[in-house]
Formats: sequence, C-alpha cells, structure tokens
Amino acid sequence: MEIKRNILLNPGPATTTDTVKLAQVVPDICPREKEFADMMKSLRADLLRVAHAPETKYTAVLFCGSGTINIDICLNSLLPAGKKVLVVNNGAYSSRAVEICQYYGLPHIDLRSSVFEQPDLDAVAKALDDNPDVALVYTTHHETGTGILNPIREIGAMAHAHGAVFVVDTTSSLGMIPFDMEQDNVDFCMASAQKGLMAMTGLSFIIGNEAEIRRSKDYPKRSYYCNLYLQYDFFERTGEMHFTPPVQTIYATIQALKEYFEVGETAKFARHRRVIEAIHKGLADMGLREVIPLDLQSGLVASVLYPDDPNWDFERVHDYCYERGFTIYPGKISTTNTFRLCALGTIDVPDIEAFFQVLRQAFDHYHIALPAQYVSK
Ligand SMILES: *Cc1c(COP(=O)(O)O)cnc(C)c1O
Repeated sequence: MEIKRNILLNPGPATTTDTVKLAQVVPDICPREKEFADMMKSLRADLLRVAHAPETKYTAVLFCGSGTINIDICLNSLLPAGKKVLVVNNGAYSSRAVEICQYYGLPHIDLRSSVFEQPDLDAVAKALDDNPDVALVYTTHHETGTGILNPIREIGAMAHAHGAVFVVDTTSSLGMIPFDMEQDNVDFCMASAQKGLMAMTGLSFIIGNEAEIRRSKDYPKRSYYCNLYLQYDFFERTGEMHFTPPVQTIYATIQALKEYFEVGETAKFARHRRVIEAIHKGLADMGLREVIPLDLQSGLVASVLYPDDPNWDFERVHDYCYERGFTIYPGKISTTNTFRLCALGTIDVPDIEAFFQVLRQAFDHYHIALPAQYVSK
C-alpha cells in the first residue's frame, strides 16, 4: 500500500512510520477479550520504561482522549479536600491547567510569569512559603507554544521539600528529550500517543506514583469519566479500561513502542537534536529570527518571528508549503506574531532541507524579501 508521506512540522500529531499506520489494520476484536487486556498490560509496562519509572513504585494509567484529558484528570483527582494547587505558569499549556482549576472550582494559585522566560525559582519558593496549604505543584516541562524548557527538577525538589505532590505536563517532551521520573523529582507525568511516541491520536496516559493514586481514593470526587483512581482501580481489578478504549490507536502505539525500543532512546534523541539544528540553520540562512534564546529552548520547537514584509502572509506561505507536503503552524506568543517549526515526528535532516527549499520557493513566489526583513535590528 502506498501512503503519501507528509512532513508535519506542527507541534503534534507527528509524522509516523508506515508500519505504525498499518498496525491499525487488524481483525476486529472486542476489547474485553483477554488477548486485548494482555496487550494493554505490556503497553503500560513499556510506557514506564520510556519515563524511566520503576514499576515497583509507579504505574501507567491509560485514557481515551487527547492530551488535555491528562491535565484535567491529574488536577481534579489529586487534590485533597481543603488544599491548594500551585500552577507554575509561563505559557499556554500551564494556563490551560489554570482554566481547568477554574472550571472545577479548585483552590489554586496562578503563579504567572513571562512567556518568554523560564519561571523564577525564588518566586516558586516564596509562593510555597506563603501557602502551607499547597498540596499539589503543577507545571509544564516543555511549553510547546514557545519552545521553552522548564527547570522541573528544581521545582520538583521544592515541591517535595514542601510535602506537595509534583505533577508535570510532559506531553511534548516525553520520548524526545531526556526525562527520568525519579531524578527529575516528578510524581506524575503525562503524554499522548501521537507526540513523542509517534503513534496515532486518541490514547493518553498518566504515569504516576502508585501510593499517591491509592491515597487519592478518598479525595473529593469531582468527575466521573475523568477520575484517576477509578480508572486505575478498574485496570488493577480487570486489566481493562473502564470504558471503551481506542482499539486501533492501541495497536498503533504498541507498534510505535516496538520501534522506539528498536531505535533506542539515545539514537532517537540524537535524531530530534539534528532535526532542530537543521531547522535553526535553515532559518538563520534565510535571515528568519527566532523569538526564544537558544539556551532556553527544549530543542523540539522553534518559534519564528513573522518578517516585517508587506508581502508576508502566513496563510499563503502555509498553503504553498502544505500543497507540497509540509505543514507549518501559526501561533501568537502574547502579542508577538510567530509561526512554529517542530522536530517531533519520524523526520530527519533531508526532510528539513527539502522543506527549506520549498519555503524559499514560497518567499520567491510571493515576492517576500530574502534575507527576511525586520524593522528593528
Ligand atoms: C499537545 C499538548 C497537550 C495536549 O493537547 P491536546 O490538544 O489535548 O492533544 C498538552 N500539553 C502540551 C504541553 C502539549 O504540547
């Protein structure tokens, strides 16, 4: 079967291998069969290996939904009565966590700081000192909207010194850059199958401290479908998801994990690294400017400032590239107009070089000046 290969430079879903795509074409199966439960059991064990989370202490709980379901579940399920959430917020994804707290009416502190910088650790320490009732500290590892990598290890150490549980949104970092549950002081991390694992949409998972999940059994119940303990307990008793799982996505994820371990973490991380370096180089060669300083970047997302050119029109440039098999992604960072190029999927340096040829043709076609023009120096 010939499947057209698109190069996705958007922040997920990512370009996948054909073997992962085709892994979804399987005989029909009822997911209540033992065969399917056995598959999910080894899938959950493999997810722990990706996060370097020892199975003596951690467990992986699967959910049917996009990555945001994990944020929702962790926040609504892991807060004891009478306690507060501290959200260390320097971007769109931590802001989403704040909105979830608002929707559930969870007592929370929105410790907001500039989206162009890492959070101020002194401010985190002060917020914890001032608020002894914080029981859950939350942040985002890689703020996908900007490309900033946050200092989770340091924040986690502070959370633990305070006696709080540390929950981190690792959706756009897990399986792509180094992460270690214990060394990074993380109690709960999360991702979905279509990002670092390069599988399909519809399966999300939370990896977390099993004793903390058990403890949450007696916390206030704020959601039925999105309760962590309920889903964990069902898996423990039956090996199954409480409700219908995304069957075909699970087949694809199992294949993707097989490929993940075959390639190996070191080689995969190195590939993501050379892809982003090719992106940095291509941008610099065209005179296009990045918004976030290199030393703050995750190495997975480049945020590019729109050129100050009367002929620049993101939509037209996007469409030109899209028609040729390359997807780029718009995104405003506060009031700054940017687009993003991401190094997520199964792509390599030649794909990026081919993309920059097309991007240059687009500039040429629409008479956008090269090198790219900016008003400020
Ligand atoms: C992609 C992503 C999510 C999940 O977004 P969905 O649209 O629900 O898939 C959550 N957090 C981060 C940091 C992400 O990059």
